[in-house]
Amino acid sequence: MSDQQKKVYALSNGFAYSHHPGASLLSRPDGSITLQDFHLVENIAHFDRERIPERVVHAKAAGCKFEFELTDSLSDITFAAPYQKVGYKCPGMIRISTVAGSSGSADTVRDPRGFSFKFYTEWGNHDWVFNNTPVFFIRDGLKFPQFIHTQKKDPQNHADGAEDSSRSWDFFTQNLETLHQVVYLHGPRGIPKSLSDMNAYSGHTFKMINDKGELTYVNFHVKSDKGFPTLSNDEASKLAGTRPDYSTIELFNKIKEGKKPGFTCYIQTMTPEQAEKFRYSVNDLTKVWPHKEFPLRKFGRITMTGNVDNYFQEIEQLAFSPSNTCIPGIQPSNDNVLQTRIFSYPDTQRYRLGANFNQLDVNRPKNLNGTAASRCPYAASNFQRDGASTLYNQGAMPNYISGQPNASLEYKDLTSEDFFKNKYKGAVTEESLKKYILEQESARAAHDAVINAKLPGYYSVSGASELDLEQPRALYENVFTEQQRKDFIDTVVGSASNIPNPKLKTTVSQYFGLLNADLGKSIAEGLGIEWVPVDLEGYFDSIGRASAK
Ligand code: NDP
Repeated sequence: MSDQQKKVYALSNGFAYSHHPGASLLSRPDGSITLQDFHLVENIAHFDRERIPERVVHAKAAGCKFEFELTDSLSDITFAAPYQKVGYKCPGMIRISTVAGSSGSADTVRDPRGFSFKFYTEWGNHDWVFNNTPVFFIRDGLKFPQFIHTQKKDPQNHADGAEDSSRSWDFFTQNLETLHQVVYLHGPRGIPKSLSDMNAYSGHTFKMINDKGELTYVNFHVKSDKGFPTLSNDEASKLAGTRPDYSTIELFNKIKEGKKPGFTCYIQTMTPEQAEKFRYSVNDLTKVWPHKEFPLRKFGRITMTGNVDNYFQEIEQLAFSPSNTCIPGIQPSNDNVLQTRIFSYPDTQRYRLGANFNQLDVNRPKNLNGTAASRCPYAASNFQRDGASTLYNQGAMPNYISGQPNASLEYKDLTSEDFFKNKYKGAVTEESLKKYILEQESARAAHDAVINAKLPGYYSVSGASELDLEQPRALYENVFTEQQRKDFIDTVVGSASNIPNPKLKTTVSQYFGLLNADLGKSIAEGLGIEWVPVDLEGYFDSIGRASAK
């Protein structure tokens, strides 16, 4: 409906309603309201259902439209359709969020930002579900619910970490692999100045597969044209108190004024042989790939192009999943957290939006059978049917595998140059193919054994080692400026000073002391406690856990 069109007040069945929208039907002039006043009932009943469950994490968000352009082909390493032809463009939606707070929380908090992209390609929807930090706190998805609980409100008194940060610091210090992300987050980049002027990183490793079946590990980097300006603690606290939606409106106004913030997209690449020799595991989400060893390779541009007309419909209902990163030609790595997310994200969407969440306009693949599709090479069909809020039930297409002419589906293999070489149909029955798959499987298992051996033993329980100290140390000692190191100490001391238990304060100073003894000492001084240096073994003894040795 265009804005110019005249609008009539109507019931939800579309019929015009001729009474005043604010008047209820009364049983007599001074009497009670009546149950037959369906206008009243419809309004109140719909209001009662306005809220859907907010995301447990990433509830507070802003978003906009974007356009992607492929500037450099990646066809040598992947047959994924959107990464083939230079000049390829597609539209999409971006959602940027804080992690811990509820949907009404302030924007300018020290927290990673989720940075997600949904690409509406003519082959189907492709998502990047990234963060504005290149690493994460944990490398085991099983720890995620517990970690997030420490970022939420206290289970007894419902107060957050600004009152008592013990739960956060207890979790961080008990899980030493958190150190890299904790240093990153308490450094300057912990509070971005603008949602459009910061980077996004996949963090996870993905596998790109080319049409020869060759594997390349990749890490995505989306770098802002404007660098990564940040807010100081004072600026951020003031804004959080006075303008809690500061970042949301700053992004909206920028786009409204016609500015089109831009980003350049890169990947870092690693061959399987390089991955076997790499100092760390490619499946370890707490590590970056050093730029010098693995330079950035440019492939695309992202331009923020427009605001939405309706936040709930177009941003809140967006449903992202790292499973949509894994389109034909891209596979998940064995990163444990990535694999957990691949389950968890669609599961959350089913709970939040219902089983048919992918049929909502913002989530619907533009090539789904039965929908208008301008540029689609074929209409996607499947056997999923019915359920609450079915919007596109695939018409008369059979809801089972049919042998009837004009009703059966084709099974496409997208590895050829034109993406349509119809190589395999259905189940693998050919003996030669079975043999090929078995050989491939044993080579894969041997490779994975080398990669997996790089992660500390049963790392889900504790397991951190000297290797986990190197990159946060490089960040603190070599990347941060002197002023940033001073600010970092102030930030940590500011956060940890409300811990009531002095033993935990000591552990916090020792946690940072493992990285740099002067840093640990400065934090102890800032917290007003004695500095008690420990080595890694001593640290694990003091927290009551075994090291990875
Ligand atoms: P480099 O010197 O090549 O990379 C350092 C990178 O750090 C920069 O390229 C920039 O990433 C990022 N950076 C700059 N200032 C800050 C800051 N104040 N806070 C956080 N990050 C900042 O060395 P390496 O590749 O060997 O990495 C050294 C350390 O830098 C790593 O241990 C890691 O902590 C951090 N880092 C590395 C990244 C990587 O992918 N290699 C990415 C981000 C941080 P960018 O170019 O993405 O803006």
